[in-house]
Amino acid sequence: MATAERSTVGDYGAANQPPPLTDYNVYEADRPLVEAVRREGAEWAEGRIATVGAFAGSEHAQTLGRLANENGPKLRTHDRYGHRVDEVEFHPAWHELLGKSVEFELHSSPWQDPRPGAHVARGAAFMCMSQAEAGVGCPISMTYSVIPALRTQPELAAEWEPHFLSAEYDPRNTPAPEKSGALAGMGMTEKQGGTDVRANTTVARPVNGGGAGAEYELTGHKWFMSAPMCDAFLVLAQADGGISCFLFPRWTPDGERNRFRLQRLKDKLGNRSNASSEVEFDAASAWLVGEEGAGVRTIIEMVNHTRLDCVLGGASGMRAGVAAAINHTSNRSVFGTVLSEQPLMQNVLADLAVESEAATVSALRLARAYDEAIGGDPEAQKLKRVANAVLKYWICKRAPMHAGESLECFGGNGFVEESGMPRLFRESPLNSIWEGSGNVQCLDVLRAMIKEPAALEAFFAEVGEGAAMEPRLAAFADSVREEVPGDVATIEPRARRVVERMALALQGSLLIRYGDPAVADAFVASRLSGDWGQAFGTLPPGLDFAHIIDRHRAVA
Ligand SMILES: Cc1cc2nc3c(=O)[nH]c(=O)nc-3n(C[C@H](O)[C@H](O)[C@H](O)COP(=O)(O)OP(=O)(O)OC[C@H]3O[C@@H](n4cnc5c(N)ncnc54)[C@H](O)[C@@H]3O)c2cc1C
Repeated sequence: MATAERSTVGDYGAANQPPPLTDYNVYEADRPLVEAVRREGAEWAEGRIATVGAFAGSEHAQTLGRLANENGPKLRTHDRYGHRVDEVEFHPAWHELLGKSVEFELHSSPWQDPRPGAHVARGAAFMCMSQAEAGVGCPISMTYSVIPALRTQPELAAEWEPHFLSAEYDPRNTPAPEKSGALAGMGMTEKQGGTDVRANTTVARPVNGGGAGAEYELTGHKWFMSAPMCDAFLVLAQADGGISCFLFPRWTPDGERNRFRLQRLKDKLGNRSNASSEVEFDAASAWLVGEEGAGVRTIIEMVNHTRLDCVLGGASGMRAGVAAAINHTSNRSVFGTVLSEQPLMQNVLADLAVESEAATVSALRLARAYDEAIGGDPEAQKLKRVANAVLKYWICKRAPMHAGESLECFGGNGFVEESGMPRLFRESPLNSIWEGSGNVQCLDVLRAMIKEPAALEAFFAEVGEGAAMEPRLAAFADSVREEVPGDVATIEPRARRVVERMALALQGSLLIRYGDPAVADAFVASRLSGDWGQAFGTLPPGLDFAHIIDRHRAVA
C-alpha cells in the first residue's frame, strides 16, 4: 500500500469538518454583552471580565468542563473503618473550575467592592464563566446570594462574611475558621413540598431559650441540597413561631462534625459536575437568622439573588449555543455552499441570535436594577421586583428550545458529546426549575400586581420608554396592559400568557433603545407584531439576516 493511502486511514473526509470554537475570549467576542456592560455601568470592570472571558474560552477550561462532567461527584458516606464521614469526592477538574471562579470573585465582588455597576460586572463575568461549565455556578451563586440574607443577623454575618468573601478556594472538609475561604449552600426543598416550603417538616428546637441569633437543633431532612460540600447552609425549619431560617454549619464551633447525613446524590439529567444531595439532620446545631416565623422573608433575600443568576445563566446558555452554531455552520458546506450562507439556515441563526441578544440585554438591565436598588433607588427596587420574576420565567423557558435548535445546526455532530451541545442541552431546563419553577414565577408576578401595584407601574414605565420610540411596541404594550385586570381569579389561568407578553414587551423596549437596529427590527416584526412561526427560523423575509449573524459571530 502506498504511503499516501496509509496516512488517510482513520481520517477520511475530515476536510469539511469545522474547527472547534476554542481559545477565544468569551467576553470580547460577545458584542451584545460588551455593549450591555458599558451601558449598564460596569465599563470600569471590563479588564476583569475579559480575564474571566479569556479563561472561559480557553481550550484548557473547556477540557476541565468536559472532565468535570464525565467524572461526576461520588458520595463517600463512611471511611474504611466504618465511621461516618459524609463527604463528596470531586474530580480535580471541578476543583480547578471552582477555584478559578472564587479567584475571579464571582461569589463575592459586589459585596467586597459595592460600587455602581458591581452586580452588572459580576453578572457579566458569571455569564462568561458559565460557558466553560455551568455546574460550578451553583455553589458560586449560593455564596454570592447568601450575604444579604445573612446580614439580617449582624453577629452571624460578622462571623461568616469574611469566610464567604475570601478569594481563596479551600476544598478541605474542616471547620471554617481553619480554612482560607468558605462556600455557602441552601436547603429549602423537602419531600412533601418544594414550592410549598410552609409544608416543611424539619423541626427546630431551641437549645437555650432561642431567639434571633441563638442556637437551635434541627431534626428532619432536605430532599434537594446542592453542593453539599459547602461549609454552611441557610436552611428552613419549623420553630415554635413558624417556618424559620437557620445558618447550619458542617462543623460545630467545638470542632465536631455537625449531625448531618448525606443519604444519596441525585442522578441528574444535567448539571452532572455538581453534586445535589438528599440529607438528614439529627439534632444538628444551627443558628436562627432573623426572627422565628420570618423564615421565608429572610431566605427570600438569598433566593432573589439566585433568581438573578438563573436569568444570567439562561442568557449565558443561549449565547454559548448561538456562538457555537454560527461557528459550525460557517465552516461547513452542504451541496457546495457554506451552511451559514444558505437562506433557510440564515433565518435559523438570525432567530437564535435575536433571542440571545434579547436575553443578554434584559439580564444585564436587571443586574443594573439590583445595583440601583441596593444603592437605595426605590424605582429600581420596584422594577426589579417584577422584572426578575418575568425574566426568570421567560428566559429560562426559552433556553431548552434555543439549545435544541442550536444543537440541530450541527446536524448529527450536535447529538454527539464531543461537540459540547448535549451538555448544553441537558443543562438548559434547570434554571427554569430551581429557585421557583415556571408557574411559581408567574404566580409571583401576580402577587406583585396585587400587593405592589407600584411595582407594576415601574415595570410598564420601563417598557414605555421604548414604546415612545416604536408604535408597534406601543400597541403591543397597550394590549398587554389590557390583559392585566385586577381580578386575580380570572388572571391565574392566563398567567403564563400574560407574563410571556410582559417579558416580550420589556425585551422589545430594551432592544429598541439599546440593541442593534437590525436585531430590534427582527424582534419587533416577529415577537411583537406576530409575523413569526412557532419554531426558530421563522423570521419574516426582508430582514438583514447576514448582519445579525455577523454581529453574533465569536471571532476566535
Ligand atoms: C438539580 C437540582 C438542584 C436543586 N438544588 C436545590 C438546593 O440546593 N436547595 C433547595 O432547597 N432546593 C433545590 N432544588 C429543588 C428545587 O428548587 C425544586 O425542585 C423546585 O423549587 C420545585 O419544587 P418541587 O420539586 O417540590 O416541585 P413542586 O413544588 O411539587 O412543583 C411541581 C410543579 O408544580 C408547579 N406548581 C407549584 N405550585 C403551583 C401552583 N400553585 N399552581 C400551578 N403550578 C404550580 C411548579 O412550578 C412545578 O412545575 C434543586 C432541584 C434540582 C432539580
